[in-house]
Amino acid sequence: MGDVISLIIDSIKSAASTIKNSSSRAKRGIFAGIAVIAIVASLSFTGARIAYKVNYSGHTIATVSSKKQFNDALQLVVDMVGDKDALNVVDKPIFNTAVVLGNDINDTQEVADAIINNTDAIVEATVLYVDGKEIARAESEMLSGVVNHRLNSFNVEGQECTSHFAQNVTTEQGYFMVSELDNVLEVQTVVSSLSVVTEMRQVTDVMVPYKSTVQKTNEQIVGYSAVTVTGVSGVNRVTQDVVMVNGEVQSCVDVNTEVVVAPVNEVVVKGTAKTLASAKQKQAAHAAGFIFPLPAGSWKVSSYYGDGRNHKGVDICAKSGTSIYAVADGKVVYSGWKGNYGNCVIIEHEDGMRTLYAHARQLCCSVGDTVSQGEVIALVGTTGQSTGNHLHFEVIVGGRNMDPSPYIGLD
Ligand SMILES: [Zn+2]
Repeated sequence: MGDVISLIIDSIKSAASTIKNSSSRAKRGIFAGIAVIAIVASLSFTGARIAYKVNYSGHTIATVSSKKQFNDALQLVVDMVGDKDALNVVDKPIFNTAVVLGNDINDTQEVADAIINNTDAIVEATVLYVDGKEIARAESEMLSGVVNHRLNSFNVEGQECTSHFAQNVTTEQGYFMVSELDNVLEVQTVVSSLSVVTEMRQVTDVMVPYKSTVQKTNEQIVGYSAVTVTGVSGVNRVTQDVVMVNGEVQSCVDVNTEVVVAPVNEVVVKGTAKTLASAKQKQAAHAAGFIFPLPAGSWKVSSYYGDGRNHKGVDICAKSGTSIYAVADGKVVYSGWKGNYGNCVIIEHEDGMRTLYAHARQLCCSVGDTVSQGEVIALVGTTGQSTGNHLHFEVIVGGRNMDPSPYIGLD
Protein backbone atom coordinates (compact mmCIF):
# COMPACT_ATOMS: atom_id res chain seq x y z
CA MET A 1 0.00 0.00 0.00
CA GLY A 2 2.78 2.47 0.91
CA ASP A 3 4.48 1.58 -2.39
CA VAL A 4 1.40 2.49 -4.37
CA ILE A 5 1.04 5.85 -2.68
CA SER A 6 4.70 6.80 -3.14
CA LEU A 7 4.43 5.81 -6.79
CA ILE A 8 1.43 8.06 -7.22
CA ILE A 9 3.24 10.97 -5.52
CA ASP A 10 6.27 10.49 -7.80
CA SER A 11 4.00 10.54 -10.89
CA ILE A 12 2.40 13.77 -9.79
CA LYS A 13 5.78 15.43 -9.10
CA SER A 14 7.15 14.55 -12.54
CA ALA A 15 3.98 15.79 -14.25
CA ALA A 16 4.16 19.04 -12.34
CA SER A 17 7.72 19.78 -13.47
CA THR A 18 6.74 19.60 -17.20
CA ILE A 19 3.93 22.15 -16.90
CA LYS A 20 5.50 24.80 -14.60
CA ASN A 21 5.33 27.51 -17.34
CA SER A 22 1.57 27.21 -18.00
CA SER A 23 -1.15 29.54 -16.56
CA SER A 24 -2.28 28.75 -13.01
CA ARG A 25 -5.83 27.78 -14.02
CA ALA A 26 -4.59 25.64 -16.87
CA LYS A 27 -1.96 24.30 -14.55
CA ARG A 28 -4.61 23.13 -12.10
CA GLY A 29 -6.66 21.46 -14.85
CA ILE A 30 -3.66 19.80 -16.42
CA PHE A 31 -2.38 18.86 -12.99
CA ALA A 32 -5.68 17.15 -12.01
CA GLY A 33 -5.97 15.39 -15.37
CA ILE A 34 -2.45 14.07 -15.19
CA ALA A 35 -2.98 13.05 -11.57
CA VAL A 36 -5.99 10.90 -12.45
CA ILE A 37 -4.16 9.35 -15.39
CA ALA A 38 -1.14 8.75 -13.16
CA ILE A 39 -3.28 7.12 -10.47
CA VAL A 40 -5.07 4.85 -12.92
CA ALA A 41 -1.80 4.08 -14.71
CA SER A 42 0.06 3.36 -11.52
CA LEU A 43 -2.82 1.26 -10.14
CA SER A 44 -2.94 -0.93 -13.23
CA PHE A 45 0.84 -1.04 -13.33
CA THR A 46 1.17 -2.35 -9.73
CA GLY A 47 -1.96 -4.56 -9.71
CA ALA A 48 -3.54 -2.34 -7.07
CA ARG A 49 -7.20 -1.52 -7.40
CA ILE A 50 -10.11 0.12 -5.67
CA ALA A 51 -12.13 -2.12 -3.38
CA TYR A 52 -14.40 -2.04 -0.30
CA LYS A 53 -13.46 -2.91 3.19
CA VAL A 54 -16.45 -4.44 4.90
CA ASN A 55 -16.78 -2.91 8.33
CA TYR A 56 -18.73 -4.49 11.16
CA SER A 57 -18.95 -2.51 14.42
CA GLY A 58 -15.73 -0.63 13.75
CA HIS A 59 -13.55 -3.42 12.48
CA THR A 60 -12.90 -4.82 9.05
CA ILE A 61 -14.12 -8.36 8.53
CA ALA A 62 -13.34 -8.77 4.84
CA THR A 63 -12.38 -6.97 1.67
CA VAL A 64 -14.65 -7.26 -1.36
CA SER A 65 -14.19 -6.10 -4.95
CA SER A 66 -17.77 -4.90 -5.17
CA LYS A 67 -20.99 -4.64 -3.23
CA LYS A 68 -22.33 -7.33 -5.52
CA GLN A 69 -19.66 -9.68 -4.21
CA PHE A 70 -20.86 -8.98 -0.68
CA ASN A 71 -24.44 -9.76 -1.75
CA ASP A 72 -23.22 -12.99 -3.36
CA ALA A 73 -21.56 -13.85 -0.04
CA LEU A 74 -24.85 -13.15 1.73
CA GLN A 75 -26.57 -15.59 -0.62
CA LEU A 76 -23.89 -18.13 0.24
CA VAL A 77 -24.62 -17.58 3.93
CA VAL A 78 -28.29 -18.25 3.25
CA ASP A 79 -27.32 -21.46 1.41
CA MET A 80 -24.96 -22.54 4.21
CA VAL A 81 -27.55 -21.95 6.92
CA GLY A 82 -30.30 -23.31 4.70
CA ASP A 83 -32.68 -20.62 5.90
CA LYS A 84 -33.70 -17.35 4.19
CA ASP A 85 -34.27 -15.82 7.60
CA ALA A 86 -30.49 -15.80 7.98
CA LEU A 87 -30.56 -12.47 6.06
CA ASN A 88 -32.56 -10.92 8.88
CA VAL A 89 -29.93 -11.66 11.49
CA VAL A 90 -26.89 -10.52 9.48
CA ASP A 91 -25.78 -6.93 10.26
CA LYS A 92 -25.71 -4.33 7.51
CA PRO A 93 -22.04 -3.40 7.03
CA ILE A 94 -20.36 -0.09 6.34
CA PHE A 95 -18.39 -0.23 3.07
CA ASN A 96 -15.16 1.75 3.17
CA THR A 97 -13.54 2.47 -0.20
CA ALA A 98 -9.87 1.55 -0.31
CA VAL A 99 -7.06 0.97 -2.75
CA VAL A 100 -5.82 -2.55 -2.28
CA LEU A 101 -3.76 -5.15 -4.03
CA GLY A 102 -5.76 -7.81 -5.86
CA ASN A 103 -4.45 -10.43 -3.44
CA ASP A 104 -6.04 -8.59 -0.54
CA ILE A 105 -9.53 -9.16 -1.85
CA ASN A 106 -11.26 -12.13 -0.20
CA ASP A 107 -13.03 -14.71 -2.26
CA THR A 108 -16.77 -15.00 -1.81
CA GLN A 109 -16.57 -18.08 0.43
CA GLU A 110 -14.12 -16.29 2.74
CA VAL A 111 -16.50 -13.34 2.93
CA ALA A 112 -19.40 -15.63 3.75
CA ASP A 113 -17.34 -17.32 6.49
CA ALA A 114 -16.41 -13.89 7.88
CA ILE A 115 -20.05 -12.84 7.92
CA ILE A 116 -21.00 -15.97 9.85
CA ASN A 117 -18.12 -15.59 12.28
CA ASN A 118 -19.29 -12.07 13.02
CA THR A 119 -22.98 -12.85 13.36
CA ASP A 120 -23.86 -14.05 16.84
CA ALA A 121 -27.23 -15.37 15.70
CA ILE A 122 -25.56 -17.91 13.38
CA VAL A 123 -23.35 -20.65 14.82
CA GLU A 124 -21.67 -23.82 13.77
CA ALA A 125 -23.57 -26.74 15.29
CA THR A 126 -23.98 -30.49 15.05
CA VAL A 127 -26.92 -32.41 13.70
CA LEU A 128 -27.60 -35.84 15.18
CA TYR A 129 -29.13 -38.47 12.92
CA VAL A 130 -30.57 -41.87 13.79
CA ASP A 131 -30.83 -44.18 10.80
CA GLY A 132 -30.45 -41.12 8.60
CA LYS A 133 -33.25 -39.18 10.29
CA GLU A 134 -32.46 -35.99 12.16
CA ILE A 135 -33.36 -36.19 15.84
CA ALA A 136 -31.48 -33.22 17.24
CA ARG A 137 -29.35 -30.27 16.32
CA ALA A 138 -27.40 -28.41 18.91
CA GLU A 139 -24.25 -26.59 19.84
CA SER A 140 -21.50 -29.11 19.10
CA GLU A 141 -19.76 -29.29 22.46
CA MET A 142 -23.02 -29.61 24.40
CA LEU A 143 -24.34 -32.28 22.04
CA SER A 144 -21.19 -34.37 22.17
CA GLY A 145 -21.19 -34.02 25.97
CA VAL A 146 -24.76 -35.35 26.21
CA VAL A 147 -24.02 -38.14 23.70
CA ASN A 148 -20.86 -39.24 25.55
CA HIS A 149 -22.61 -39.11 28.90
CA ARG A 150 -25.31 -41.44 27.53
CA LEU A 151 -22.70 -43.76 26.02
CA ASN A 152 -20.72 -43.98 29.26
CA SER A 153 -23.71 -44.17 31.58
CA PHE A 154 -23.68 -47.99 31.74
CA ASN A 155 -19.93 -48.38 32.17
CA VAL A 156 -18.91 -50.34 35.23
CA GLU A 157 -16.35 -48.63 37.39
CA GLY A 158 -12.98 -50.33 37.44
CA GLN A 159 -13.74 -52.40 34.31
CA GLU A 160 -12.58 -51.86 30.77
CA CYS A 161 -15.69 -50.72 28.82
CA THR A 162 -16.41 -49.63 25.28
CA SER A 163 -19.83 -48.60 24.09
CA HIS A 164 -21.81 -47.69 21.03
CA PHE A 165 -25.43 -47.04 20.16
CA ALA A 166 -27.59 -49.93 19.04
CA GLN A 167 -29.03 -47.64 16.37
CA ASN A 168 -27.03 -46.21 13.47
CA VAL A 169 -26.16 -42.82 14.97
CA THR A 170 -24.27 -40.27 12.85
CA THR A 171 -23.48 -36.59 13.14
CA GLU A 172 -22.88 -33.78 10.72
CA GLN A 173 -21.51 -30.27 11.26
CA GLY A 174 -23.32 -27.33 9.79
CA TYR A 175 -24.29 -23.67 10.28
CA PHE A 176 -27.55 -22.84 11.88
CA MET A 177 -29.53 -19.97 13.27
CA VAL A 178 -29.21 -20.04 17.05
CA SER A 179 -33.01 -19.88 17.27
CA GLU A 180 -33.22 -23.21 15.37
CA LEU A 181 -31.10 -25.16 17.89
CA ASP A 182 -32.38 -27.55 20.52
CA ASN A 183 -31.63 -26.81 24.15
CA VAL A 184 -29.86 -29.20 26.50
CA LEU A 185 -33.09 -30.68 27.92
CA GLU A 186 -34.44 -31.42 24.46
CA VAL A 187 -31.15 -33.05 23.46
CA GLN A 188 -31.04 -35.10 26.67
CA THR A 189 -34.58 -36.33 26.07
CA VAL A 190 -33.89 -37.66 22.57
CA VAL A 191 -30.44 -39.01 23.40
CA SER A 192 -31.74 -40.88 26.45
CA SER A 193 -34.09 -42.81 24.15
CA LEU A 194 -31.09 -44.30 22.31
CA SER A 195 -30.06 -47.84 23.31
CA VAL A 196 -26.50 -48.23 24.47
CA VAL A 197 -24.53 -51.40 23.84
CA THR A 198 -21.70 -51.66 26.38
CA GLU A 199 -18.96 -54.21 25.89
CA MET A 200 -17.01 -54.92 29.00
CA ARG A 201 -13.92 -56.96 29.72
CA GLN A 202 -14.75 -57.87 33.29
CA VAL A 203 -12.24 -59.24 35.74
CA THR A 204 -13.58 -60.60 39.01
CA ASP A 205 -12.10 -62.57 41.85
CA VAL A 206 -14.35 -65.48 42.69
CA MET A 207 -14.18 -67.48 45.91
CA VAL A 208 -13.70 -71.18 45.24
CA PRO A 209 -15.14 -73.24 48.10
CA TYR A 210 -13.04 -76.17 49.28
CA LYS A 211 -14.33 -79.69 48.98
CA SER A 212 -14.53 -82.14 51.81
CA THR A 213 -13.19 -85.63 51.38
CA VAL A 214 -13.96 -88.45 53.79
CA GLN A 215 -11.42 -91.06 54.69
CA LYS A 216 -12.91 -94.12 56.31
CA THR A 217 -10.99 -96.10 58.87
CA ASN A 218 -11.86 -99.29 60.73
CA GLU A 219 -9.43 -98.23 63.40
CA GLN A 220 -12.08 -95.90 64.80
CA ILE A 221 -15.63 -96.55 66.00
CA VAL A 222 -18.70 -95.58 63.94
CA GLY A 223 -19.50 -92.01 64.92
CA TYR A 224 -15.86 -91.03 65.24
CA SER A 225 -15.15 -88.02 63.04
CA ALA A 226 -12.05 -85.86 62.96
CA VAL A 227 -10.81 -83.21 60.57
CA THR A 228 -7.20 -84.07 59.75
CA VAL A 229 -6.73 -81.39 57.07
CA THR A 230 -8.49 -78.07 57.50
CA GLY A 231 -10.17 -76.82 54.34
CA VAL A 232 -9.20 -73.42 52.93
CA SER A 233 -11.18 -71.68 50.19
CA GLY A 234 -9.35 -70.66 47.03
CA VAL A 235 -9.63 -67.65 44.73
CA ASN A 236 -10.03 -67.67 40.95
CA ARG A 237 -9.58 -64.54 38.84
CA VAL A 238 -12.18 -64.84 36.11
CA THR A 239 -12.02 -62.74 32.94
CA GLN A 240 -15.28 -62.46 31.02
CA ASP A 241 -16.50 -60.60 27.98
CA VAL A 242 -19.84 -59.13 28.92
CA VAL A 243 -22.26 -57.43 26.55
CA MET A 244 -24.96 -55.23 28.06
CA VAL A 245 -27.80 -53.31 26.51
CA ASN A 246 -28.79 -50.34 28.64
CA GLY A 247 -26.95 -51.97 31.53
CA GLU A 248 -28.71 -55.33 31.25
CA VAL A 249 -26.43 -58.26 30.60
CA GLN A 250 -27.19 -59.91 27.25
CA SER A 251 -24.24 -62.28 27.09
CA CYS A 252 -21.32 -63.25 29.24
CA VAL A 253 -18.49 -65.35 27.88
CA ASP A 254 -15.63 -66.67 29.98
CA VAL A 255 -12.33 -65.72 28.44
CA ASN A 256 -9.87 -66.86 31.05
CA THR A 257 -9.71 -68.26 34.56
CA GLU A 258 -6.57 -67.82 36.55
CA VAL A 259 -6.07 -69.62 39.83
CA VAL A 260 -4.90 -67.00 42.31
CA VAL A 261 -5.09 -69.21 45.36
CA ALA A 262 -5.78 -72.93 45.01
CA PRO A 263 -8.26 -74.32 47.52
CA VAL A 264 -7.10 -76.82 50.13
CA ASN A 265 -9.59 -79.63 50.45
CA GLU A 266 -10.71 -80.67 53.89
CA VAL A 267 -10.03 -84.24 54.97
CA VAL A 268 -12.37 -85.83 57.47
CA VAL A 269 -11.54 -89.22 58.97
CA LYS A 270 -14.60 -91.27 59.91
CA GLY A 271 -14.65 -94.52 61.85
CA THR A 272 -16.38 -97.66 60.51
CA ALA A 273 -15.67 -100.10 63.35
CA LYS A 274 -18.44 -101.26 65.65
CA THR A 275 -15.89 -102.30 68.24
CA LEU A 276 -12.17 -101.96 68.81
CA ALA A 277 -11.97 -105.13 70.90
CA SER A 278 -9.18 -107.55 70.08
CA ALA A 279 -9.92 -111.06 68.81
CA LYS A 280 -9.15 -112.43 72.27
CA GLN A 281 -11.48 -109.93 73.96
CA LYS A 282 -14.23 -110.78 71.48
CA GLN A 283 -13.82 -114.48 72.16
CA ALA A 284 -14.13 -113.89 75.92
CA ALA A 285 -17.20 -111.71 75.36
CA HIS A 286 -18.92 -114.33 73.19
CA ALA A 287 -18.19 -116.89 75.91
CA ALA A 288 -20.37 -114.92 78.35
CA GLY A 289 -23.40 -116.20 76.40
CA PHE A 290 -25.52 -113.01 76.48
CA ILE A 291 -28.59 -112.56 74.37
CA PHE A 292 -29.49 -109.21 72.70
CA PRO A 293 -31.38 -106.96 75.21
CA LEU A 294 -34.20 -105.98 72.76
CA PRO A 295 -36.54 -108.01 70.52
CA ALA A 296 -35.15 -108.77 67.04
CA GLY A 297 -36.00 -106.19 64.38
CA SER A 298 -37.09 -103.54 66.87
CA TRP A 299 -33.87 -101.61 67.19
CA LYS A 300 -31.07 -99.67 65.55
CA VAL A 301 -27.71 -98.74 67.09
CA SER A 302 -27.21 -94.96 67.26
CA SER A 303 -23.94 -94.87 69.16
CA TYR A 304 -21.22 -97.38 69.83
CA TYR A 305 -18.85 -97.60 72.77
CA GLY A 306 -15.69 -95.51 72.59
CA ASP A 307 -16.76 -93.21 69.74
CA GLY A 308 -14.75 -90.34 71.15
CA ARG A 309 -17.44 -89.00 73.51
CA ASN A 310 -16.21 -91.01 76.50
CA HIS A 311 -19.32 -93.07 76.02
CA LYS A 312 -19.41 -95.96 78.47
CA GLY A 313 -22.06 -98.07 76.74
CA VAL A 314 -23.92 -98.64 73.50
CA ASP A 315 -27.09 -96.71 72.61
CA ILE A 316 -29.80 -98.72 70.88
CA CYS A 317 -32.82 -96.82 69.55
CA ALA A 318 -36.24 -98.43 69.83
CA LYS A 319 -39.85 -97.34 70.22
CA SER A 320 -41.05 -96.26 73.62
CA GLY A 321 -42.37 -99.26 75.55
CA THR A 322 -40.25 -101.90 73.76
CA SER A 323 -39.37 -104.77 76.12
CA ILE A 324 -35.87 -104.78 77.63
CA TYR A 325 -34.58 -108.28 78.39
CA ALA A 326 -32.06 -109.46 80.97
CA VAL A 327 -29.13 -110.57 78.79
CA ALA A 328 -28.32 -113.45 81.21
CA ASP A 329 -29.55 -114.91 84.47
CA GLY A 330 -28.73 -112.81 87.51
CA LYS A 331 -29.88 -110.78 90.48
CA VAL A 332 -31.23 -107.24 90.34
CA VAL A 333 -28.88 -105.01 92.35
CA TYR A 334 -30.35 -101.68 91.26
CA SER A 335 -33.78 -100.67 90.02
CA GLY A 336 -34.71 -96.99 90.30
CA TRP A 337 -33.80 -93.45 89.32
CA LYS A 338 -30.06 -92.93 88.79
CA GLY A 339 -29.25 -89.31 87.83
CA ASN A 340 -28.42 -88.91 84.12
CA TYR A 341 -29.33 -92.56 83.57
CA GLY A 342 -32.95 -91.88 84.44
CA ASN A 343 -34.85 -95.08 85.31
CA CYS A 344 -32.10 -97.70 85.50
CA VAL A 345 -31.67 -101.42 86.18
CA ILE A 346 -28.37 -103.11 87.13
CA ILE A 347 -28.16 -106.90 87.14
CA GLU A 348 -25.28 -108.83 88.69
CA HIS A 349 -24.49 -112.12 87.01
CA GLU A 350 -22.89 -115.30 88.39
CA ASP A 351 -19.27 -114.38 87.86
CA GLY A 352 -19.63 -110.85 89.28
CA MET A 353 -20.11 -109.31 85.84
CA ARG A 354 -22.79 -106.57 85.79
CA THR A 355 -25.06 -105.28 83.03
CA LEU A 356 -26.76 -101.85 83.14
CA TYR A 357 -29.96 -100.76 81.34
CA ALA A 358 -30.75 -97.02 81.37
CA HIS A 359 -33.38 -94.35 80.30
CA ALA A 360 -36.28 -96.82 80.81
CA ARG A 361 -39.81 -95.51 80.66
CA GLN A 362 -40.89 -98.11 83.19
CA LEU A 363 -39.05 -100.52 85.52
CA CYS A 364 -40.37 -104.12 85.69
CA CYS A 365 -38.19 -105.55 88.48
CA SER A 366 -37.08 -104.72 91.99
CA VAL A 367 -33.77 -104.84 93.82
CA GLY A 368 -33.17 -108.39 95.08
CA ASP A 369 -35.22 -110.04 92.31
CA THR A 370 -33.68 -113.03 90.63
CA VAL A 371 -34.16 -112.78 86.89
CA SER A 372 -33.71 -115.25 84.07
CA GLN A 373 -32.13 -114.61 80.69
CA GLY A 374 -34.79 -113.12 78.40
CA GLU A 375 -37.03 -111.90 81.22
CA VAL A 376 -38.51 -108.41 80.71
CA ILE A 377 -36.92 -106.14 83.30
CA ALA A 378 -37.96 -102.70 81.96
CA LEU A 379 -39.49 -100.84 78.95
CA VAL A 380 -37.61 -98.51 76.57
CA GLY A 381 -38.04 -94.78 77.29
CA THR A 382 -36.15 -91.50 77.31
CA THR A 383 -35.78 -90.63 80.98
CA GLY A 384 -32.72 -88.87 82.44
CA GLN A 385 -30.09 -87.31 80.13
CA SER A 386 -31.56 -88.56 76.86
CA THR A 387 -32.58 -87.03 73.53
CA GLY A 388 -34.88 -89.84 72.31
CA ASN A 389 -36.28 -93.24 73.15
CA HIS A 390 -33.35 -95.63 73.44
CA LEU A 391 -31.68 -98.19 75.64
CA HIS A 392 -28.26 -97.27 76.98
CA PHE A 393 -26.57 -100.62 77.73
CA GLU A 394 -23.33 -101.17 79.66
CA VAL A 395 -21.20 -104.20 80.58
CA ILE A 396 -19.04 -103.82 83.71
CA VAL A 397 -16.35 -106.38 84.57
CA GLY A 398 -14.41 -105.99 87.82
CA GLY A 399 -15.75 -102.42 88.18
CA ARG A 400 -14.52 -101.47 84.69
CA ASN A 401 -16.68 -100.67 81.68
CA MET A 402 -16.12 -103.04 78.78
CA ASP A 403 -17.08 -102.54 75.14
CA PRO A 404 -20.59 -104.09 75.14
CA SER A 405 -20.69 -104.67 71.35
CA PRO A 406 -19.05 -108.15 71.20
CA TYR A 407 -21.13 -109.31 74.23
CA ILE A 408 -24.38 -108.77 72.36
CA GLY A 409 -23.18 -109.74 68.88
CA LEU A 410 -22.66 -106.21 67.48
CA ASP A 411 -19.13 -107.04 66.31
ZN1 LIG B 1 -25.61 -94.01 76.02
